[in-house]
Amino acid sequence: MKILLVGAGLSGAVIARELAEAGHQCRVIDARSHIAGNCHTERDADTGVMMHVYGPHIFHTDDKGVWDYVNRFARFLPFQNRVKTTSQGRVYSLPVNLLTINQFFGTTLRPDEARAFIEEKADTSITDPQTFEEQALRFVGPELYEAFFKGYTEKQWGCSPTELPASILKRLPVRFNYDDNYFFHRFQGMPEDGYTAMIAAILDHPGITVELDTPYVPQMAQEADHTFWSGPLDGYFDYRLGHLGYRTLDFERFTYQGDYQGCAVMNYGDRDVPHTRITEHKHFSPWETHEGSVCYREYSRAAEPDDIPYYPIRMVEEKELLAQYVRLAEDSQCVTFVGRLGTYRYLDMDVTIREALDTALYFKESISSKKPILAFVVPPI
Ligand SMILES: Cc1cc2nc3c(=O)[nH]c(=O)nc-3n(C[C@H](O)[C@H](O)[C@H](O)COP(=O)(O)OP(=O)(O)OC[C@H]3O[C@@H](n4cnc5c(N)ncnc54)[C@H](O)[C@@H]3O)c2cc1C
Repeated sequence: MKILLVGAGLSGAVIARELAEAGHQCRVIDARSHIAGNCHTERDADTGVMMHVYGPHIFHTDDKGVWDYVNRFARFLPFQNRVKTTSQGRVYSLPVNLLTINQFFGTTLRPDEARAFIEEKADTSITDPQTFEEQALRFVGPELYEAFFKGYTEKQWGCSPTELPASILKRLPVRFNYDDNYFFHRFQGMPEDGYTAMIAAILDHPGITVELDTPYVPQMAQEADHTFWSGPLDGYFDYRLGHLGYRTLDFERFTYQGDYQGCAVMNYGDRDVPHTRITEHKHFSPWETHEGSVCYREYSRAAEPDDIPYYPIRMVEEKELLAQYVRLAEDSQCVTFVGRLGTYRYLDMDVTIREALDTALYFKESISSKKPILAFVVPPI
């Protein structure tokens, strides 16, 4: 069959590869001038540093199948994300762990003591937390909430934590040991030559053609037997019901000779500091040596129609609009919506790959059993 894949990010690339290996002809298009979507990496022309152009990407997963898959296409080197935060004029370790607690309160507590100490601080009058703020106060108390959660969350989401659902914050967002590895997953690493080289290897198959600087036009779908759409769900329908809300990011690039901050990611928890974090990209490739350094100062704000959509907002209003777009999508023929934009969800890379592999399998099985192909393999709601 002739398959059109809109988007040369992870979703489009993985589905194209799986279907090309099954003998289908895959045409991958992307409006941008490069492959890899938001995972795109490229070397900075001045310093040689490998840049995560759309923000830092750390690969982590518990899915052995996905880990084996990415290792087919790239050599992964060990990398663990160890984030720091500047709050109220001091630097602390994140996620909030025993070191953070002991530094913040000037204590030398052991795990059990720290647990009891934080339980004392928690507001136990909140029995059924509904909002982010109630959840935080219920589990960590006012001091840690103010220093590490409140200001950062306000900047990231552009609203008060009293307006955000409790579900955004994990049940107990504190560790009572010295583990400062940001992710819990068994497999973690960075592709040695960057994500774009990995995705180029995924797309490197005789059954796949890639066209860049090529925005979708409906004529393309008419020339194909089936379309996989990894662009914005509302974009497929020309935003006819309105725009689904996203947060976007502005990156202010600056350079430095030497080591600017000594770590890859430094958060800024205070409300009066306008940026949410600074990322120093050479620390994402600790096996490389560069004299020069490139950093991104990162700001979050509501996305306007021409901005790059980063984080779906998915509050009550957006979910109502999403439900309407889902109904339109389900009435469409010969198109399946995939990926972070096509299903309007935040997806880590490993989840994106898992869903893409499952989607390709579903498609192949549906074709061989002559079943209709659904608009969504993973429902967005
Ligand atoms: C700031 C940020 C940091 C992240 N950090 C991590 C991390 O540390 N670890 C992790 O696992 N995941 C991370 N992610 C998630 C990761 O970026 C996604 O999992 C991944 O990008 C999803 O791939 P995709 O192919 O679905 O979407 P995308 O990468 O967005 O690809 C979609 C592509 O479709 C193209 N397109 C859209 N519309 C059209 C059109 N009309 N015509 C033609 N082409 C079109 C776009 O140009 C784009 O290239 C992060 C995400 C963000 C926003």
